[in-house]
Amino acid sequence: MRYSIKSVKAREILDSRGNPTIEVDVATEGEIIVSAAVPSGASTGIYEAVELRDGGKRYGGKGVTNAVAAVVKTLQPKLLGMDVRQQANIDGLMIEIDGTENKSKLGGNAMLGVSLACARAAAASDGLRLYEYIDKDSSLLPVPFFNVVNGGKHAGNQLDFQEFMIAPTGAENFREALRMGTEVYQSLKGRLQKAYGKTSINVGDEGGFAPPVKTPEEALEALWGAIQDAGYVDEVKIGIDVASSTFYKDNSYTVAGVNYDTDELIELYRELVAAYPIISIEDPIQEEDYEGFAKATKLLPTQIVGDDLFVTNPKRLAKGIEMGACNALLWKVNQIGTLTEALEAANLAKKNKYGIMASHRSGDTEDPWVADLSVGIGCGQIKSGAPARGERTAKYNQLLRIEEWLGDKASYPKGLLG
Ligand code: PGA
Ligand code: ZN
Repeated sequence: MRYSIKSVKAREILDSRGNPTIEVDVATEGEIIVSAAVPSGASTGIYEAVELRDGGKRYGGKGVTNAVAAVVKTLQPKLLGMDVRQQANIDGLMIEIDGTENKSKLGGNAMLGVSLACARAAAASDGLRLYEYIDKDSSLLPVPFFNVVNGGKHAGNQLDFQEFMIAPTGAENFREALRMGTEVYQSLKGRLQKAYGKTSINVGDEGGFAPPVKTPEEALEALWGAIQDAGYVDEVKIGIDVASSTFYKDNSYTVAGVNYDTDELIELYRELVAAYPIISIEDPIQEEDYEGFAKATKLLPTQIVGDDLFVTNPKRLAKGIEMGACNALLWKVNQIGTLTEALEAANLAKKNKYGIMASHRSGDTEDPWVADLSVGIGCGQIKSGAPARGERTAKYNQLLRIEEWLGDKASYPKGLLG
């Protein structure tokens, strides 16, 4: 049968940070051969699926030859002959073989490579693009949240908040959003260079600038100035990913050398939201504090996105929904390790009127599948770093193509979160 899996191969490739990651090839009896590459985070949540890494000396311990072996030696014999369209069965079988709660035996990285390559093979077998295969009626392009100032674990500066993003919610379509965001990015470059000198335009892991600023106010001031310089005061809004677990210790959050408890930190966010056009705040509270998240969600007027809190895990999301923690899910397929479970999390979020922001990882590859999936699930929001650096533009450029392929059918969520 042409949909049957004929072979599953895997190899070690490099991600954008120069660390090894896994790429999986799936071939079918119908002579379809596709591959999928797996990204990797730096500010990873403690509840994420485990990335299998070799340890030892090679690549500083980060090699993935064991994950490659898990795919070729352990999984391939069981997967041969399976129908690539049976995504839930394929993913379910891998979960069963792995047998752990956090995918630590086979590795979430190994499993995701297989999971996505099978989806691609199924799409290609029917002559469909990946986004169409996820949902043939999909037509909604996402608002891009461009991460233009990098801090936290993604940059060598002293900024504690991890990501400062610009979101062209006032654009008419994705193509225009990309142009607006890129114009703001370029005007920010000029502004930073003038204010802080040449070293300020060095970029961090996600292509955003890493200026020598310390406080969130300084970063937001630069963003807001750049939005004004580019002439998009009404069209371009701001989002932040605080990634607050990275500066939380002993019941206290340290921002620019000042210690905050949860209430004080929420008050800081309230002040920032009052001063700047912020529409979305991700991980304002550390990843184990559902109650703190619920409080922040109640007290702040913006979208509150759960990344390290939910780790795209339907069980953790269900708990958050029950407690009123967040009103949006950050959707990172590699956090959970299979497409089936990630789609389950997305469906749960939708059913409960939670927003969804599809996301790349800070260590990513040239593979643009997250762009297709964001349109496939129709979530209306994506973050894939700055509009610069190949592994970031791979996603944005794919969205340009998808918008073109959709033609008149394409829609853009103008005014989102407005
Ligand atoms: P990561 O960062 O990919 O390094 O985890 C992205 C994020 O925190 O959203
Ligand atoms: Zn995050």
